Order: sequence, then C-alpha cells, then structure tokens
Amino acid sequence: MRILVSNDDGIHAPGIRALAKTLSLEHEVFVFAPDRERSATGHALTLNRPLRLERHPLGDLEAWAVNGTPSDCVKIALSMALPAPPDLVISGINRGANVGLDVMYSGTVSAAIEGTMSGIPSIAVSLASFEVGDYEPAARFALWLANRMPQWTLPPKTLLNVNVPEGTHAGVRITRLGGRRYEDVFEARTDLRGKSYYWLSGTPLPSEEEHDSDVRAVHEHFISVTPIHYDLTHYAMIPPLQDWGLSLPE
Ligand code: MN
Repeated sequence: MRILVSNDDGIHAPGIRALAKTLSLEHEVFVFAPDRERSATGHALTLNRPLRLERHPLGDLEAWAVNGTPSDCVKIALSMALPAPPDLVISGINRGANVGLDVMYSGTVSAAIEGTMSGIPSIAVSLASFEVGDYEPAARFALWLANRMPQWTLPPKTLLNVNVPEGTHAGVRITRLGGRRYEDVFEARTDLRGKSYYWLSGTPLPSEEEHDSDVRAVHEHFISVTPIHYDLTHYAMIPPLQDWGLSLPE
C-alpha cells in the first residue's frame, strides 16, 4: 500500500520516525510533516503566508517538512505533492495521549481527519505517555492495523483514533471518547521588561470514566481504538429544536 504519514509533533519527532520506519518495512511511505512542533493547533490552516516544502529524507524514506500545520501537510500532500493518492493516512505517533476532549485540540487527530475528508481511510495514533517513550510497540500495532484496513470499511466521515499505553498491554479495547478535562491554569509571570505574560499549563482533572471510555482503557493498559467522526451535528436534537419555534424577529 501507499501510506501518507503526518503528525503534529513535527518531522524531527521520534514518534513519526518510528511510525514511518516500521510502516516502510512493508509499504511505500511518504512523510509530510510540520517543520516544527505544532501540537494543539487543531484543524488550523495557513492562509496568510506562503507554504514551503523542504525535502527532509528520513533514512531511505521520502519525507518533506512543511512550514505549516498538520492539516496543511495532509492537504498539500493529497492535492499536489504525492504522485498518486495514498491508500491510507496515518498520523502520529503523537507524544502523549489524545483521549476525551484532547481530540478537539489535537493536530494529530486533525491530520487524520483531513485524510478522511478526502475519502481516504485514516488513523491517528498516540503514545499515552509524556515520558521519553518507546514508540516501537505503538508502531508495530499501527503496522498490524494498517495491514488489515483493506478488509474493513469505515463509514463516511469516520476515522480511528488509537491510543497506546506504555509498557505491556492487556489487550485491545474498542472505546468511546471519555470525559477527561483539564484544569486550565495560566501561570502569570513578568518578563525582563516588566510586562506580564501568561502561559497555559494545567493538569487533567479527575473524571468518572465508564468501562468503555478511552481514558479508562489506557489507564488499564489496554490499547484503545475509538471510531470518531467529524460530523458534529447532534441529530437527536433536530426534532426538539424544530419544536422551539425559531423564527425571524418581528
Ligand atoms: Mn503532539
């Protein structure tokens, strides 16, 4: 298969190298990744400055660094840079979990969504650890999954969000997005010129997690696989909303 690999940690990140290297053992791999870390940039696009591609081979692999966001990388690869459309888009391996509300901010997930938007089966893969992780087990799982993707069908607008815990795994659990949120903490400091600045930090708040949540699966050492879709419509809300009697102001 031909596989497009991207991420949000940037082309220098160990996670994308491990992923691309492992996939290339059995597949033709093209890497298009941001030229620096672009974590938590969500689905942003660059519209107000030119995009540049720089060849940046990773070993024997064709790889390009793009001075844009993860979504820019996938868009430019799919629409003009790749010799032919890929069979699969895989984004990652992200440094840190993308569970619960993380997916709303994640550039890793957004790169995979971008693939899905073009009708290509897409997967986001994250290592649920912020320590210096071992990306090999997650890369091997990504290869295993990639090899089986042709036999399965993802519904339209749907992708797989995979989170791999560090260490040994209890198994694979199919999950839904959990409810984990962060306590937003803005550290207030003063710069050398006496002006205030703020830096967002924040740690996850404790959350009640059901058995089938991705947060809980990772916590219990399961590889978590969540089908997610980008249609944000709340379909069940349409009939009651119609009953609200919305109309033009008089
Ligand atoms: Mn990241």
